[in-house]
Amino acid sequence: MTLLCTPILTDTADAALRAAALAKMKGADLVEYRVDRLFDGSPDSIDACLRLAKDSPLPCIVTCRTSREGGEYDGPDDERVALYEALGTAEHPPRYLDLEQSTLDRSSNLRQKIRLAVHHPAQLRESRPSLILSMHDFDRRPADLIRRLSAMHADDSAAVLKVAYRARSLRDNLELFDLLALRSRPMIALGMGEFGLMSRILAPKFGGFLTFASLHPSEVTAPGQPTLDELVDLYRFRAIGPATRVYGVVGWPVAHSLSPLVHNAGFHAPGVEADAVYIPLPIPPEWEHFKATLLVLCDHPRLDFSGASVTLPHKEHLARLAREEGWTIDPLAERIGAANTLVRASSGWKVANTDATAAAESLQRAMGWLKNRRIAVIGAGGVARAVATALVDQGATVALYNRTKGRAEALVAEVRAGMSGGGGQIVAAPYEKLCGACCEAFVNCTPLGMTGGPAPGESPIPPAEFENIPHGSVIFDTVYNPLRTPLLNAALDHNLTIVDGAEMFVRQAEQQFRLFTGHAPPSGLFDRLAREKLRDAR
Ligand code: NAP
Repeated sequence: MTLLCTPILTDTADAALRAAALAKMKGADLVEYRVDRLFDGSPDSIDACLRLAKDSPLPCIVTCRTSREGGEYDGPDDERVALYEALGTAEHPPRYLDLEQSTLDRSSNLRQKIRLAVHHPAQLRESRPSLILSMHDFDRRPADLIRRLSAMHADDSAAVLKVAYRARSLRDNLELFDLLALRSRPMIALGMGEFGLMSRILAPKFGGFLTFASLHPSEVTAPGQPTLDELVDLYRFRAIGPATRVYGVVGWPVAHSLSPLVHNAGFHAPGVEADAVYIPLPIPPEWEHFKATLLVLCDHPRLDFSGASVTLPHKEHLARLAREEGWTIDPLAERIGAANTLVRASSGWKVANTDATAAAESLQRAMGWLKNRRIAVIGAGGVARAVATALVDQGATVALYNRTKGRAEALVAEVRAGMSGGGGQIVAAPYEKLCGACCEAFVNCTPLGMTGGPAPGESPIPPAEFENIPHGSVIFDTVYNPLRTPLLNAALDHNLTIVDGAEMFVRQAEQQFRLFTGHAPPSGLFDRLAREKLRDAR
């Protein structure tokens, strides 16, 4: 079993013990007292560290990390080793002491002292703590990683080996998993930074000795470290094992995606109970990054990578990769030229576009039917293309309004070229005439009104112009953060029917979930979770 360890870096023993009690309550198995600040070489500070080991509510690691390896201790090594000797020979020693391999390499005298203080095959006193021999690189994967690891393997005083370095891409996690597969004794192998989160969540899948999880986002001791709540509640860390299938959301950025929340809850819902986990998979925007990373995830022999939601800016990249690799592309994704879903089927990889059908279903619920309805689509980007294609497929008459006229005309030509014979039509219309459009529904596919977007306070239809919108019209905003955009607020003020972007998000996620698992998620689950999260974010 992979242990959940909460690192605690405080100035006082009392605060550290209080934090350890909280970590225990939240489900940690182990705490790491980082005494870099507490220990100053004085007898009082040694006593404080001994007290931590004695009174700890959970088994503990004690670590005094030097600034050379990302810690805060700047004192002499021999004082630090004296602390470890005191802890090693104490009546109530900690379960583990962590020391860097680079420190032991600097002096055979220090190495000898540490060897006497810890438990190892030639050490008869079993009550001694075990040594975690560690190496850290906060900048990169060390060029001499393999040489240093074999030196660590050769040291029989180390009970556990720890390797942590900054992952430069998702691919670095795969090397960490391969190191775990080759381990000859318990090992911690973790990637730091946003790309390394995968190694922290999936440690139980690959037999990692422990993973670190902070009590609070402000208390992380290494970049990219998740919180205990995230690991336990969001990623269901305790349920992850060697056979767990891995799914995720591919995009840039993905840190604030709602998708892990809904899909992980779905996997663990009664009646589904899938042995699966869903994680953020950040891939930088360029096609080369996307292609290289996605293919190694798909091909890794032990990752059990089984599917992904693919979001900005990679939806077109996914369709392109599927064409290059000869994967199955659903006809709608083929015509749109963009896909948001990748799934491993028994016959191979398949890609689909659930945005388009989700948008059409959302509008259909509000309008009753779509055939022969006049609908204004605003924007000419990826979402507008998916929405317009799905509406034309359903027989609607679409007027496409976009700030840049040439893009609107190009999109209209593309949609016409791929029309499926559903009886729909599409025309490009002048953007400045939008407010006078004689349409029954208006769909915003621009980022206007989006938190963090180019114009969060703006609406594609200025509030004053709502007088010209026919009574009974439906206003659909694909933007879902915030839930109530300026466009939707103005529509509500004029008693118009609204459809929000959360509805589209939830429907596309539910369709993906069916493709991932073969099950429908419990009715209303995704909607409730997404809306709660969006309301909390306000
Ligand atoms: P995109 O490809 O970047 O296209 C953006 C479109 O918005 C372009 O046509 C652009 O016009 C127009 N635009 C941008 N800024 C504008 C401004 N200040 N005034 C007028 N028009 C402006 O984006 P996308 O991928 O289509 O995404 C659009 C929105 O869809 C996102 O903001 C997101 O909130 C939403 N979305 C929702 C879901 C969901 O599930 N609900 C899923 C994905 C996306 P030009 O051609 O003139 O540049």
